[in-house]
Amino acid sequence: MFSLTQFPLQFSDTSLMPYMSDTTLQYHHGKHLAAYIKNLNDLIVGTEYEAMPLYEIIHKSSTDPNAVKIFNNAAQVFNHDFFFKCIKPNGGGKVPEEISIAFGSAEKFISEFKTAATGLFGSGWVWLVLDNGKIKIMTTANADNPVAHNLVPVMTLDVWEHAYYLDYQNRRPDFIDAFLNNLVNWDFVIENLK
Ligand code: MN
Repeated sequence: MFSLTQFPLQFSDTSLMPYMSDTTLQYHHGKHLAAYIKNLNDLIVGTEYEAMPLYEIIHKSSTDPNAVKIFNNAAQVFNHDFFFKCIKPNGGGKVPEEISIAFGSAEKFISEFKTAATGLFGSGWVWLVLDNGKIKIMTTANADNPVAHNLVPVMTLDVWEHAYYLDYQNRRPDFIDAFLNNLVNWDFVIENLK
């Protein structure tokens, strides 16, 4: 039987401190993501989705009214796997040239990204995407993601409360600052622009 497995984190669960605690990673990667993977594997048994690659599951289920749960879990598996690749120890810092140019300046990019991330109401994700070769900021609600909209994901930040509440409580702007200044894996982001 086809079954998605969970990739281990590329860093130790204490290595992002103090910007993201080991407890947050143990819950976020070890419990939340693990649950999405288990749910998805359980939901696709005996369906047309059973043997599909994850991208195809997301794509097809996004327009299937009978597969809302499959979409939500598949998209969350993708979103989290992508998010955990977007962060690393000693990350953040100087905005890459490619992104500064696309937004006019590093400051403009940071300002637009922060506005989008703080302004997203409820649970969701903030993305950098490629839309016909153009770099854009996009926000999605709940599990929704660029893959479902035929856009190429380049970077993402999880702004569901479970991503930051243990470390920052209601201070989402502080979590966004920590992501940009100390966590984001620009090398991975640049790879995705190619
Ligand atoms: Mn999450």
